[in-house]
Amino acid sequence: MAGGVIRTTCPYCGVGCGLHVAADGTLTGDPQHPANCGRLCSKGAALADTLASDGRLLYPQIGSRNANWHEALDRIAAEFTQVIDQFGPDSVALYVSGQFLTEDYYVANKLMKGFIGTANIDTNSRLCMASSVAGHVRAFGEDIVPGCYEDIEQADLVVLVGSNLAWCHPVLYQRLVTAKEQHKTKIVVIDPRQTATYNIADLHLAIRPGSDVAVFAGLLVHLAEHGQCKHPWTHDFATGYAATLDAARMTAPTFVDAAAIADVPAADLKQFYGWFAATERSTTLYSQGINQSSSGTDKVNAIINCHLATGRIGRPGMGPFSLTGQPNAMGGREVGGLANQLAAHMSFADPADVDRARRFWNAPRMATRAGLKAVDLFDAVLEGRIKALWILNTNPAASMPRAERVRAALGACPFVVVSDCWPTDTTRFADIVLPAAGWSEKDGTITNSERCISRQRAFRQPPGGARPDWWMVTEVARRMGWASAFDYRGPADIFREHAGLSAFENTGPHRRVFDLGALCELSASQYEDLPAVHWPLPRGTSEPWSSPKRLFGDGRGFATPDGRAR
Ligand code: SF4
Repeated sequence: MAGGVIRTTCPYCGVGCGLHVAADGTLTGDPQHPANCGRLCSKGAALADTLASDGRLLYPQIGSRNANWHEALDRIAAEFTQVIDQFGPDSVALYVSGQFLTEDYYVANKLMKGFIGTANIDTNSRLCMASSVAGHVRAFGEDIVPGCYEDIEQADLVVLVGSNLAWCHPVLYQRLVTAKEQHKTKIVVIDPRQTATYNIADLHLAIRPGSDVAVFAGLLVHLAEHGQCKHPWTHDFATGYAATLDAARMTAPTFVDAAAIADVPAADLKQFYGWFAATERSTTLYSQGINQSSSGTDKVNAIINCHLATGRIGRPGMGPFSLTGQPNAMGGREVGGLANQLAAHMSFADPADVDRARRFWNAPRMATRAGLKAVDLFDAVLEGRIKALWILNTNPAASMPRAERVRAALGACPFVVVSDCWPTDTTRFADIVLPAAGWSEKDGTITNSERCISRQRAFRQPPGGARPDWWMVTEVARRMGWASAFDYRGPADIFREHAGLSAFENTGPHRRVFDLGALCELSASQYEDLPAVHWPLPRGTSEPWSSPKRLFGDGRGFATPDGRAR
């Protein structure tokens, strides 16, 4: 807090804009935050209108009556313990949210995977981001966005695929519009629809829905045939180039074939291919139109392949760039809040990772395999395999695919707990409802699309008895018998441990890129004052913390066994 101003972060989208909150409650953009440099979109600018407490959940409810926290937490711990004793750890589940702060995510993930002994924790970020996670791991060996927002301004060609930037990431759209005005950035929009983003396009490819892989396979073939696939990358820094090119040729041998598959004029596609081939500073931004697909991971890799094959990655103005939807989808991925992730970019596929997490947590009952992913999780609830479910900060009765089936599952589940700020379609199914603190009332961190960790700072007291999610989870964990492992005084303690896990035994040639070692001994005041920082931040990075905003630009550092991209 400086001069009565509190610096915090917008809770709406993955751009992660910094905010100033004045003593009189006025909200403005933080001119020093790297995501927005003082800008705000209409959603961020209207945040003060969301602060009314009318209709908020104020007290725990058991059935239709108000209860106190002790009674509610005791009951949750007892029910979960009884179900686990009778049916085993895989009979319980948590369904969480990209609205969680990283500290909320960390304790929930630790409780489930290290102490209850199941990986049945998944997040609504699964629905929007899991394809990018899988694509990154497949190409880079780890879930890493190689670039930063400045690339959008420094590119000479920006390709937007499956992204309505104008509506979904408005401040990045503003940055792109300004860049276009200043140095005539060429913009290609690939989208079946004419969205608001279409208005700034030099070329719009209204492709047939689902034909993205053919478009980018055709681009790879075109790049290879026009001498753009650089030797250092295709031979020294990446593995599988020849096989990838063969596969691309089978998918779309010529631009005419790709145009036929995508149902766009061949001349337009040729134009796009020509611009991409001729423009080294090319950045490809993609979002849910790519991710939310039955072939989303292949679409992600088809895009990444074109950047790897040309070496256009991790240098100013160039790279594949996945834009996250929710404010902390990225923080959840760092923690390992997806059912098929372990923790801190470690994997269930590697027994050494599982053992490492077990030793770090001193975990009594370590999960050793992936758990149920969101859709499968609710199917398991409907089939009676999940008997106790805790839903935090999300409304699956309205927002999941096949929501009718999800509502049937919730209605059939023997024990449902829901934590939220307001009554929702999902709280109707809860045996216990817990009142959660909202974004303006809780402290922690979030990570935006460009790997930038920002503090979210409370500037109001929660109404009634509302409490932060990390507190609820740790209180239940303590009541289940793990008091010393969940003995946190506040979010700073949790963040330090999260950073410590990322750095634990993280040395040698196969070190994990996700490393916050420099932050694992933050004092309370350093955590309080933490500026926006990009990771990785390994031990030895000194204050003011700075890290390379871009990764892999020299062709090195991929988290694969041989250090080469795939
Ligand atoms: Fe908030 Fe996103 Fe708008 Fe930035 S772009 S102010 S993070 S809604």
